[in-house]
Amino acid sequence: ERSPVITVDGPSGAGKGTICQLLAQHLGWHLLDSGAIYRVLALAAIHHDVELENEEALTLLAAHLDVQFLTGTEKDAIKVILEGEDVTTTIRTQECSNAASLVAALPRVREALLRRQRAFCVKPGLVADGRDMGTVVFSKAPVKIFLTASAEERAQRRYNQLQDKGFDVKIDRLLAEIIERDDRDINRAASPLVPADDALVIDTSGVGIDDVLKQVLEYVKQKI
Ligand code: C5P
Repeated sequence: ERSPVITVDGPSGAGKGTICQLLAQHLGWHLLDSGAIYRVLALAAIHHDVELENEEALTLLAAHLDVQFLTGTEKDAIKVILEGEDVTTTIRTQECSNAASLVAALPRVREALLRRQRAFCVKPGLVADGRDMGTVVFSKAPVKIFLTASAEERAQRRYNQLQDKGFDVKIDRLLAEIIERDDRDINRAASPLVPADDALVIDTSGVGIDDVLKQVLEYVKQKI
């Protein structure tokens, strides 16, 4: 018997991370932060001097990636350990964000990470956060959500998040990078960022987290 999955896809800064964390907590389900997998792969590539366009080497690296996801703290829901080293904070840097979106564009790399992502689907259920959770990785999920918001609002949210984590960033640069990264995610051939046909699309611009969560929970109750 397979465990149920709720997929939450959308561009960066749409509120997926927070919503998924709250949803998983509320239901007592597991959480998959698939973006963290691409980020950690990008970091491993940087550590091992693998070029970010070298699909063959990156695919090999992806297949053998020594990464652990541990239950974290209130601040970081999940602790990420790469080759024994805690990289939870490091993978959130701008360098890793940009590198992640480069390696994520490579089809064989994505393929190599499929099994690792699907392994998160265990009882009692999974909340999966990403770009292609509902379209590719868990295409049969009973509940699919697509969260979006204006680029300006998403840049502002990311800015606040990074400030909280102690990173000093410029909002203009953040906005430019968000637009560039989304553009790459939307226009790539392999698993582009697009809502699944059967996804509930929620625009979170100007909507508080509590209201988004309420809307999502109501939808989940209808579907499961
Ligand atoms: O969600 P997050 O911003 O951490 O993801 C980092 C990058 O990883 C994204 O910009 C995207 O290019 C890639 N990604 C992806 N597919 C996913 C999750 C993330 O391509 N399911």
